[in-house]
Amino acid sequence: MTPVLVFLPVAFSLLSPQALALCVLTSGARELGKAAASPRWTTGRQKDRTLMTRQPTASRLRVLRTGDPQSMFHYHNPKEILERLGPPWRLLSSSAKTEKSRGVGVLSRVLYLTPGVFCPRATEGCLRVCLGHASGRMTMLQSANARDRRTALYAEDQEHFLDLLRCDLRLLREDARREGMTPAVRLNGTSDIPWETLHGELFAEFDDLEFYDYTKVPSRVRQFLLGRRGLSDFPANYHLTFSHSETNAAEARSLLDEGAGVAVVFWPSLPETYGTFPVVDADKHDARFLDDEQVPTRGGYIVGLRAKGIAREDLSGFVVQRAGEPVYLKRGAAA
Ligand code: SF4
Repeated sequence: MTPVLVFLPVAFSLLSPQALALCVLTSGARELGKAAASPRWTTGRQKDRTLMTRQPTASRLRVLRTGDPQSMFHYHNPKEILERLGPPWRLLSSSAKTEKSRGVGVLSRVLYLTPGVFCPRATEGCLRVCLGHASGRMTMLQSANARDRRTALYAEDQEHFLDLLRCDLRLLREDARREGMTPAVRLNGTSDIPWETLHGELFAEFDDLEFYDYTKVPSRVRQFLLGRRGLSDFPANYHLTFSHSETNAAEARSLLDEGAGVAVVFWPSLPETYGTFPVVDADKHDARFLDDEQVPTRGGYIVGLRAKGIAREDLSGFVVQRAGEPVYLKRGAAA
């Protein structure tokens, strides 16, 4: 884990988004300088000629960390991005996965920000193959621009961002009511913002909505689990699933033992059990807050996802290639 990755989780819970963005801007500059100088970050598909010819240098680097090769955050700060792209009109989107949730009576929408920018525990592996930029429509420049303008607005003008978000949440509530469904929203579609601490008022304001997210921050999941037992004030309508990566096996194992759901990406197929834990097929729908009901033991369980897009070629350990044995979940291997 790099010094930046060590620093961010602590700072994240203490700072406002604007302060956090500035913090990442300065503390992450050296990391980003290395990444931006790599050919991986070329912007050949960018339509903007000025972007194509601009070469980032450490001295003028004004970017936040992201694995999205098309993101403007490699070259511009949030203010510059808003000047170029303008603010977003809408924040919440649907996807093929959220559409599947209709099958279980849930109308679900997702907030997609630029992957990695607000992900304090992102790893090399997940930044590279994140679904938020590497699969389906997410690979299109138009989608990358939409994510960038939302992210820039959150970093630059939080009040405006939250006004827009409230509008979208009210629309979701109305649409769900009209269709007789449960309204649900995933605010960290491609981020890991602690909404319960930074914007906790939203959960009471929209107490008829189900909020759910994946996170790589163990303390957030622990607070969620404590909340389920009435031992913390974690919002009752917010469900968290821990995300496994190539660097957090011990934490994943520990949280499984504590009763959490842990998302693991497999390729090419899902096992029925992983280690001693049952696997829920999370590709059937996106409503993660229903997973607990599928696990009769009420203990820890694996939220199984199949790799998509370039993630199928991942060899970092972020994706579990099923030709091999599950290493970290073997008895006594971790935690
Ligand atoms: S932490 Fe999640 S959302 Fe962020 S870059 Fe990694 S996989 Fe994508």
